[in-house]
This record gives sequence, C-alpha cells and structure tokens, in this order.
Amino acid sequence: KADASPPLLRLLDAVQAAPQPAKGDCVVYWMRMEDMRIRDNRALALASAQALKAGVPLLVLFVLSPQDFIAHDRSSRRIDFTLRNLRCIRDDLAKLNIPLHTVSHVSRKKIPGAVHDLLLQWNASHLFGNIEYEVDELRRDIALCELAQVHGKVACIFLHDKCIVPPGDVRTKDGRGYTVYSPFLRVWAPVLEKASSHHLDEAPLPQANDRSVHNHVTFGSLFKTEVPKEVEGYGLSVEDQARISTFWPAGEDAADQMLYRFLNTAARSTQFGAVDPLSKGASEADPTKKSRLAKYKDARDRMDADTTSRLSPYLAAGVISARACVREALKASGKKKLDVSRDTGVGRWIQELAWRDFYTHIVALFPRVSMGRPFQEKYADVQWETNPEHLQAWKDGRTGVPIVDAAMRQARTMGWMHNRARMIAAMYLVKDLMIDWRLGEKYFMETLIDGDLASNNGGWQWSASTGVDPAPYFRIFNPYTQSQKTDPGGEYIRHFVPELSKVRGPEVHNPPAGVADKLGYPRPLVDHKEARERAIRRYKNIGAK
Ligand code: FAD
Repeated sequence: KADASPPLLRLLDAVQAAPQPAKGDCVVYWMRMEDMRIRDNRALALASAQALKAGVPLLVLFVLSPQDFIAHDRSSRRIDFTLRNLRCIRDDLAKLNIPLHTVSHVSRKKIPGAVHDLLLQWNASHLFGNIEYEVDELRRDIALCELAQVHGKVACIFLHDKCIVPPGDVRTKDGRGYTVYSPFLRVWAPVLEKASSHHLDEAPLPQANDRSVHNHVTFGSLFKTEVPKEVEGYGLSVEDQARISTFWPAGEDAADQMLYRFLNTAARSTQFGAVDPLSKGASEADPTKKSRLAKYKDARDRMDADTTSRLSPYLAAGVISARACVREALKASGKKKLDVSRDTGVGRWIQELAWRDFYTHIVALFPRVSMGRPFQEKYADVQWETNPEHLQAWKDGRTGVPIVDAAMRQARTMGWMHNRARMIAAMYLVKDLMIDWRLGEKYFMETLIDGDLASNNGGWQWSASTGVDPAPYFRIFNPYTQSQKTDPGGEYIRHFVPELSKVRGPEVHNPPAGVADKLGYPRPLVDHKEARERAIRRYKNIGAK
C-alpha cells in the first residue's frame, strides 16, 4: 500500500509558486501530448482567466522532444496524430487571436531551461500546465518550478486534469491509495458524485485575445511559427498516413463525432472495412436500433462488431476530456445521477473510464511500475524464454493461432486494437510463448496510436499476472476458446488474416495442418496445452520461493 499523495506529486505541490509575481507582459499555457484540446481544459481555462485579470495576452506553448519520444517508445502513428492535432489547435487558437508556439528538437534534460528562457524572453508572469504523472515528467516540472523560484519572475502552476478523479483523491480510511479495482471503484464513484467535488464540471473556454496581439513585436510573430510536417525518424509512409488519418481523423470535432457515434448510433454487423468511421456516423443514427452505448454491457467483447467507442486515441492524447465522456454518456442515457453499475451499458462504460483513472493512479502512486518493475516484486524472477523468432512471429501476426494473428495484424493496420484482442495477444505472448511482458509492452507502445504508459502497463501486467489486481497466473486464456466466444463467425479473423479468408465454419479458429499448409498459413508455434503447463510451473516455482 502507498500513501495517497505520492512523493513527487507532493514535491511538485510544494515547489509550485503562489501566483503573485509582478505584472508581466503575458500568461503562458504549456500544452503537452496528453492534453491536446481547447475545450474543457483546466490549465488552459485558468491561464485564460489569469490573462484576462491581468489584461495581458495568453500564449500557448508546445515542446517537441524526440528524446522524449524515444524514452516513451512513442509510435510514429502517435507522433503523426500529435502533429495533426497540433495543426487543428493552431487554427482554432488563431481564431481567438491566441498564438501557438511550437518548439522542436529540445533535448529532454534541457526542457526546463528552454521553457524558462522563453518565459523570461516573453516577460511572462505565469505559466500553467496540466500534470503528467510519469516520473520524468514530474521531475521536469519540478525542475522548472525550482528554476522559476530562483529567478523569481514567473509563477508556475500545474493542475490535475487527466483523470476524472485525480490521484490522491481516492483513499482508504487510513488515507492510502487502492491497489484493487473493485474497492477503488466503490470509493471513486461517491467521490465523483459529491456535489462539492466539481470533478465533472466543464472548464470554461479560453477568452479571445485582443486583436492588437497580432501587432505586438514579439507575440505577433509567434502566429507564424510552423507546426513541423513530421519529426525525423517518425515519418509514416504515404499509405500508412492516409489509412491512419482516415481511421483516426484529428481534432476536437472528430473526437466529439466519435463520441456521438458511440452514444447515439448502432453498430454495423461487421466493422473492419477500411472506411472513415465518421462518414457513416450520423447516417447510422436509427432510433429503432439500440445504440452502441446501450448495448455495451453485452456486446463490448465482440471483436467482430464495431461495438466500443474507439475513443482511446483521443483520450490518450487528451483531444477530448474524460469528464466530457462521462457527462455526455449520462445525458445520452437519460441519467440524472452517476451510474457505474455492471448491469447497464452506460454504467459499464463509465467503469472502463474508471479503469483508466485506476491505472493512472497506480503509476502516480507506484512509479516503479513505469520503470520496468513488476508491481508484484515476487514475479521479478519469472524465467522467460529468449526466442527472437517467436517474438518476431508474434509481432508479424504469424503465430499460427488465427485470433492472435488477427489481433496483431489489426494493430499494424489500424494502429489500434480491440480490448479483447489486446488481452488475448498479450496473454499469448507471456503465457504461451513465455516471452517477457516488457517486450510486448514496448511493441504495443511503438505500434499503437493510443499508447498510454499507465493503461498499457496496467494491461500488460494484468496479462502477465504481475500487476495490481491481475489475472491469477493459473487462469490462462485458451486462445481457441476465446476466438469462438469473441469472433464466433470468424469475420474478424477472415478480415485481418486473408490467407484464411475462404475458410468457413469452426476450422477458421484452428485450421487443421493440411488446410493451413495448403493456404500458406503457419502451423502453431507451440502447443497450447503444453505451453500452459509450462507457464503454471514457472510461476508456481516463483510463488514457492
Ligand atoms: P471503450 O471500451 O469504448 O472504453 C472507453 C475508454 O475507457 C477507452 O477509450 C479507454 O480510455 C478506457 N479504457 C477501456 N478499457 C480500459 C482498460 N482496460 N484500461 C484502461 N483504460 C481503459 N488503452 C489505452 O488507452 N492505451 C494503451 O496503450 C492501452 N494498452 C493496453 C494494453 C493491454 C495489454 C491491454 C489488455 C489493454 C490496453 N488498453 C490501453 C486498454 C484498452 O484495451 C483500450 O483502452 C480500449 O481497447 C480502447 O478501445 P475503446 O476506446 O473502443 O474503448
């Protein structure tokens, strides 16, 4: 158990300046890769209020650091999505006479100094930002606050915005954080419901700057700052760029439409044509059919149908706030009060948003999980297989287990995977192939557009049975049974594994060797039953130590 106020957060709190420096020439909001929106953004709203109060312009700053991308195994898809969103934000801010200044290629260590130099150069009185909970990011913000204190010119203020309920606010009776989800949820919901908590309140939109800012000798030129077309080493092929931006259009309007689509429209029977999911969104609204939200409780695990919100890229990049998702879901389902019940579509969906909070709280409370350590230290010594061919076959979707291969190819094609697909593919790597979960965690981050350290780490440590509230080590998915349950007709497999596109009936889940050979589809890398026994043996031996 850990104290509900993690040390680095406490330190950040301690070094944040009381906002009372001399009047400067501007107020700055520092936007990060996790809060890429103008609507319902706490730090941006507060920065705007401060600028209004002081009668000075508001400026927005964004810092691109390729070293940061390397440290977090960021995927090219995520970087491309960041730049596409940044362009939308620049255009929307310009309508409010607010410039967006993007600084490229700052090395990681130099970020606090570089940001502070800019604040001095602009004679800023205040800097506002939303907190990022990873260790290096907290250290970076603490360093900036300390620098600002030494110089005494700028007040730096960081706010909680990523989670619906911030880390530290969901506590046991003795003031500690939770490491099991169900009791966490039982406290999370009442904290959220408390009228005085304001956790669901929408942050106001920023006020427009006076037009005269365009004529300011320094600030006027910031409107001309370019958003880079790409970051070296993170370019996408023309084809990938076109496909990914069709699946995942950038901008807050796109995120809102995606939410609308989930809340108000029904799922089509199959999902995975390479179509713009939004182009059919509104026309699908059919009052005679139950919406995806209404059916979520029962349909969420079906990999062959488009039943979930697909909002994870937007939530991971903060293009939409998680608060807005809860507010709109309650409204769409006609609920006046919060619903987190397992028995309703809306309740079940809000539970998933609570998982996102839960894993973010865990990263804040137990920073070691984000440094490659298992949450349950006793599993640090599990004996892993070192088999580069098996690892590569898994990445390529050529394990010979159709549902795993379809899942892995979905990741390559869409930069996204269905939650069940992630669970099945992750459990297969860790328990059937007995390959270290950290290699899978890294590959997902490098491939997916929604890579989020907390949710990804939480998901991988769940699958590896090493995390908070994990799958017990002996409860190992049988990928063939999972396949029959989540893709009963085999549509999902046939779509992503074209070698099997002509295989009908149950054989698609586990093609006989003769059929597989004829179709050029690989035979299974391992026998599931034997692999399962090996995994249990290895975990059990550790447990006995
Ligand atoms: P919906 O079912 O519509 O859920 C709504 C939102 O709730 C999601 O967008 C997401 O923000 C949140 N959510 C849902 N399930 C979870 C969960 N299990 N844990 C945390 N948040 C959840 N999610 C990421 O956003 N980024 C990741 O890098 C990531 N890696 C994962 C790795 C593994 C091994 C596993 C098992 C899960 C991972 N998840 C991750 C969680 C989950 O798979 C995705 O959030 C979900 O598939 C996204 O689809 P959706 O937006 O349609 O979700």
